[in-house]
Amino acid sequence: MEIVAGVHQLRIPFPDGAERVTNAWVVEGDRGSILVDCGWDTSEAIWAFREGLKVDGLSFQDIKWIVLTHVHPDHLGMAAKLRELCGAKVVMHRLDAALVGPRYVDSSRLAEEMEEMLLSHGVPRDEIGEMREAAGKAAQFVTPLEPDVLVNEGDTVSNGSFQLDVIHTPGHTPGHICLYEPRKRRLFSGDHVLFDAVPRICADPQSGADPAGDYVRSLEALVDRQVSFVFPGHGPVFNSLGIRSNEILRLCNVRQQQILSELEEGLKTAYDVTRAVPWRVNGGEASYDELPFREKRTSVCEAVAWLKRLSLDGKVAPLERNGRISYLAK
Ligand SMILES: [Zn+2]
Ligand SMILES: [Zn+2]
Repeated sequence: MEIVAGVHQLRIPFPDGAERVTNAWVVEGDRGSILVDCGWDTSEAIWAFREGLKVDGLSFQDIKWIVLTHVHPDHLGMAAKLRELCGAKVVMHRLDAALVGPRYVDSSRLAEEMEEMLLSHGVPRDEIGEMREAAGKAAQFVTPLEPDVLVNEGDTVSNGSFQLDVIHTPGHTPGHICLYEPRKRRLFSGDHVLFDAVPRICADPQSGADPAGDYVRSLEALVDRQVSFVFPGHGPVFNSLGIRSNEILRLCNVRQQQILSELEEGLKTAYDVTRAVPWRVNGGEASYDELPFREKRTSVCEAVAWLKRLSLDGKVAPLERNGRISYLAK
């Protein structure tokens, strides 16, 4: 569907009948189209992509660049196949490009590091097995690839009509990028700012030392940017970047306060905290026990991210004993 002149939205379904979709954006120009993000690699996704192009009178051959906002499977999964179908070049930030191999080509070391991390934060061993299985299922919907072009903050990807400036927005992943068209004031925001959800911010072996702090700083850096349309990786298009960013910043503060008040009751691991605070899933609120195992792992990683941020702010102190980390409110 053409949302504004020259910008088409393709809604790419998630695997296994999940209700969510990834927005893939086709940006038309004098020198071919730029595709921003792809979707999981499934036959349904390829079909949805092909049909979406056809309805809007576009073809695979029009697409000359595939820009991936980040390394997650719902954005990168199908990129290798689309690169072949389109004869396009794949563009990524260098930091997320470096994560593709360890994440999707040989993930055994990453899986081990992840399990060690989860154990050290209090997750019981029997839950870890189920989390591993859930994560393994997701990997089957990704075809790994090496990007053709690595970009950094300040680089541009141009097709003549649209000149997209690369803005590095670490937090959701270390090499997450948004793309900004300054003349038309359009922002392709990936998973950095969504209208109807707060992006997951996870500490994991690939995330760097302070993903939650990175995320907050990335939001603050963009909050005053003049934007007429935001085209996000999921959910509806919107135009109130400043209002939405401030709302997400407020919700990040609420999350930190919830975690702090749990720690006021005494020393707790990230796992204890994760079990105690509410989580959002499919638009509703759920307790830890109600979450699927993949979401359970993500939720523990998110609690760890905020506990690291609170530690760096001097509000809590981590205490390690026999390989297990607990946190104490200061
Ligand atoms: Zn993501
Ligand atoms: Zn996503």
